[in-house]
Amino acid sequence: MTPNSLHPDSLAVHAGREDLAELGVHALPLDLSSTNPLPGIDVGGLSYEVLATGGHPFEGGSNVYARLWNPTVARFEQALARLEHAEEAVAFSSGMAAVTAVLLALSHEQGKRHVVAVRPLYGGTDHLLASGLLGVEATYCTPDAVAAAVRPDTALVILESPANPSLELVDIRAVVAAAGDVPVLVDNTFATPVLQHPLDLGAAISLHSATKYLGGHGDVVGGVVACDASTAAALRRTRAITGAIMHPLAAYLLHRGLTTLPVRMRAQQEGARTVATWLTTRPEVTRVHFPEFAECDPQGLIGTQQSGPGAMIAIELAGGFDAASELTAAVELFTHAVSLGSVDSLIQHPAALTHRPVQSEAKPSDALVRLSIGLENPDDLIADLEQAFARSRVLEHSAAERV
Ligand SMILES: *Cc1c(COP(=O)(O)O)cnc(C)c1O
Repeated sequence: MTPNSLHPDSLAVHAGREDLAELGVHALPLDLSSTNPLPGIDVGGLSYEVLATGGHPFEGGSNVYARLWNPTVARFEQALARLEHAEEAVAFSSGMAAVTAVLLALSHEQGKRHVVAVRPLYGGTDHLLASGLLGVEATYCTPDAVAAAVRPDTALVILESPANPSLELVDIRAVVAAAGDVPVLVDNTFATPVLQHPLDLGAAISLHSATKYLGGHGDVVGGVVACDASTAAALRRTRAITGAIMHPLAAYLLHRGLTTLPVRMRAQQEGARTVATWLTTRPEVTRVHFPEFAECDPQGLIGTQQSGPGAMIAIELAGGFDAASELTAAVELFTHAVSLGSVDSLIQHPAALTHRPVQSEAKPSDALVRLSIGLENPDDLIADLEQAFARSRVLEHSAAERV
């Protein structure tokens, strides 16, 4: 059986483990070496040269130093590349380190300093672009304005679909067409390769905050970029220079996390469907953002571009900021915390937290609350939200009485 004939669920379990039987082990090996023995100055020096310029280790060479190459990290990269239908993948210490490396590598390689950014984006990405810290100038736009925003010095078009925090879907093929020769990066953190393959849709790069669904258990921070081999080499060169490589223990946990990713995604999505549908019946909620609801998917992208809605929900509350503040304080089963994609459910207020650094014109509404649905039984999550809404109402009444 050729590995490419495997169902994605089987690939998630077996990718990057092809040589384990030959090594005589069953679990993933974890190599924590910070440095590696050198076979000699000449070969050691050549190994350094090859790895520091973005190449792969060669037979008889050395991995030299863990900032240049780590076998546990490389294994996870291979597995992720397979799941993303990419030639290669490059793993970083965080999602933001991955975004930074792409911006640095692509602007430097092409000598171009302009980026087109389709909003909304994760607050950290939006902030990095707006800060000017990396010497790149960003033009923010809507998907239909990408063609007009592209300039001769544009190095990259960057988008998220579904977008953080309000879950807008962007037609990736349409943006790729509008971008022309300019490479398009899709932040695939919310959809994961279980639901969406950006490279199959024409994007050059698929990026993840691995901290979220890939890890899935709230205990690892990482980022990973899937792309073609030459972009991967440029990213490894940048990673070696800037020192942003993923820690091998993180790679080990992420690789282990991949095995259950398809099952987790489907189960969390099913729970999210139930919770989102219930939320539409609540008087406290004026709008439910969930990608498979018709009003959230006017272009019909669920079922074509992305195979399912995922497990994130955003709601707008009739009571605005105060209601959000009460709801996040009153939940008991949900954890009031940033981040997402874990086996346990989280709730947070994007405008105050994850999207706090976003410029006011692009900041999410103060009435918006984001929910990441985990693996709990959805009835328990609904009961928690129900008691939280009820307690919020009591608070409202007592506040009204005090006035
Ligand atoms: C969290 C997140 C990031 C940043 O990743 P970190 O691992 O927190 O650095 C980037 N994009 C999206 C969509 C995210 O949710």
